[in-house]
Amino acid sequence: MRLVFLGAPGSGKGTQAAKLREHFDIAHISTGDLLRAAVKEGTPLGLQAKAVMDAGQLVSDEIVLGMLEERLARPDTAKGFILDGYPRNLAQADALEGLLARLGQPLDAVVKFEVPNEVIVGRCEIRYAAEGRADDHPETVRKRLAVYAEQTAPVAGFYQARGRLVVVDGVGPVDEVFQRIVSALPAR
Ligand code: AMP
Repeated sequence: MRLVFLGAPGSGKGTQAAKLREHFDIAHISTGDLLRAAVKEGTPLGLQAKAVMDAGQLVSDEIVLGMLEERLARPDTAKGFILDGYPRNLAQADALEGLLARLGQPLDAVVKFEVPNEVIVGRCEIRYAAEGRADDHPETVRKRLAVYAEQTAPVAGFYQARGRLVVVDGVGPVDEVFQRIVSALPAR
């Protein structure tokens, strides 16, 4: 099963990806996690990405695509994967189509999480208190939501036009949202 999770920051993509990963025995690939690991390690790429991430902006398409390509080459993706946080703009969606076509691994579905902004802001405040992620600061969350609306939201139309978009209500208990996702996925 090869999936993309699409949704605003704090819409539950990471939480649900962890559950689906277990359910289908597939890899969970979060480009945000890959970038945070690079920042922590202090790699040149990480140093470059940090300021952009802290400002709530998008890291360059080239850097993220390179990281993703490397990650997809690892053996734990054999049964499939969930991309959590990629693609985040139309150029990345295009690049992903090309990459997966080359690998002979087309997507089965793109799951879009629908969560109202006021719920998102509340969830990010809780995560900020718990994890202290600089980009969960309320002001940065507003910036990230604007970036999402402007650059990432159009990606849903890209996949809808290709008949692969599944829209799921992301509000409610974690297990209920999980059941909604599983029942909305195409049968394999
Ligand atoms: P996330 O954990 O998915 O919310 O990502 C945290 C931050 O990492 C984002 O706000 C961006 O700065 C950066 N990032 C993650 N994924 C991407 C991507 N696909 N393209 C560009 N920047 C990304």
